[in-house]
Amino acid sequence: MEELEKLKEEYKNCGRCPLLVNNRNNVVFGTGDSSRVLIIGEAPGMQEDLRNEPFVGRSGEVLNSLLADIGLSRSDVYITNTILCRPPDNRNPSSEELENCKSRLDRHVEILDPEVIITLGNFATKYILGISDGITNIHGRVFDRGGRKVVPMFHPAVLLYSGNNPEKRKELLNDFMTVKTLLGGTDLRSFL
Ligand code: URA
Repeated sequence: MEELEKLKEEYKNCGRCPLLVNNRNNVVFGTGDSSRVLIIGEAPGMQEDLRNEPFVGRSGEVLNSLLADIGLSRSDVYITNTILCRPPDNRNPSSEELENCKSRLDRHVEILDPEVIITLGNFATKYILGISDGITNIHGRVFDRGGRKVVPMFHPAVLLYSGNNPEKRKELLNDFMTVKTLLGGTDLRSFL
C-alpha cells in the first residue's frame, strides 16, 4: 500500500526523540498483511529492535498463541506500537515520546482504516480511547471510536509476569474471543 510505504519512509530516520535515536537499532514500523484488525502495543523491546519487527520476543509468542486460538495468524492482522523506537532498558515511553509519535499513529490508523483496533495495555488504550480508566476495569469491553470498534486488552506480557497463570490466560483469551465475534465469519484476508 503506497500510503503506508510513504509513512514508513517518512519515519525511517526519525529524530524527534533524541534519547531513543541514540539507543535504537531500528525504527520498528509495523507488520501484517491485513488491515481489518489493527493491534497496538506499547513499544519495541530488545528483540523487536534487533529484528525490526513488533512482537517477536516472548510477549510476541504469547500474542501469536492467543491469535492462533481464535484462528488467526500474524498475517491476518496488522501490528504496530504507540512508539516506534525501543526505550532504553525497556522503560515506559515518556509522555513527550508518546506525543512525538502521536501524529504517526493517527496516520497509521487512518491509512489502515481497520474495523477493529485491539489496544494492548494501558498506554495504547489511553492513547486510542482518550480515557484514563485502568485496563483491569475496561479490558474486553467494546468501545466505538468514529465507527471503529476498539477492544482494550491486557498486555500479553502480564501472562509472562504471572508465570503463565491459566486463569490470566483465560481472561486474555476471552477478550480475543470478543474480537472473533465482532469479525463474524467473514474472510479476514483483505490484503493491503
Ligand atoms: N511489547 C510491546 O508492547 N510491543 C512490542 O513490539 C514488543 C513487546
